[in-house]
Amino acid sequence: MAIEQTLSLIKPDGVARGLIGEVIDRFERKGLKIRAMKMLHLTREQARAFYTVHKERPFYARLVKFMSSGPIVAMILEGENAVQVNRDLMGATDYRQAAPGTIRRDFSRSIEKNLVHGSDGPDTAMTEIAFFFNDLEKV
Ligand code: ATP
Ligand code: MG
Repeated sequence: MAIEQTLSLIKPDGVARGLIGEVIDRFERKGLKIRAMKMLHLTREQARAFYTVHKERPFYARLVKFMSSGPIVAMILEGENAVQVNRDLMGATDYRQAAPGTIRRDFSRSIEKNLVHGSDGPDTAMTEIAFFFNDLEKV
């Protein structure tokens, strides 16, 4: 299994509800290393660009509004099979279908406000990491 990097976001609901520490604790307990981290507040335009893959979906406008509604935490996570390990910790998009013990199952209150984002593959991860971090911001 290869060492990978993936992008993780704690979405505005997770930050507002005081769950930053809880989420990071789960990553660290699973052995994922944090290689970069910052808090930022996306503009509508930046949120639109980040989720452009979903621009034809009916929920896109709401998603953009939600993702730009407050501060988020962006992180680069690194570890063996990091993309899938992070997706497994997050659980399914819809918290009602997420496995017990996953972040989304434990904390989400709707399909939209599902606390965390994680890259869905190694190629996406590279694009998404470049969206948020430059080389000076990585260790
Ligand atoms: P993410 O990309 O945020 O990690 P994901 O890969 O599990 O989540 P996607 O299908 O990429 O799910 O959807 C992106 C985000 O859009 C979801 O995390 C959720 O916040 C929102 N979303 C997805 N489906 C719906 C829906 N049916 N109604 C409202 N919001 C949705
Ligand atoms: Mg996705």
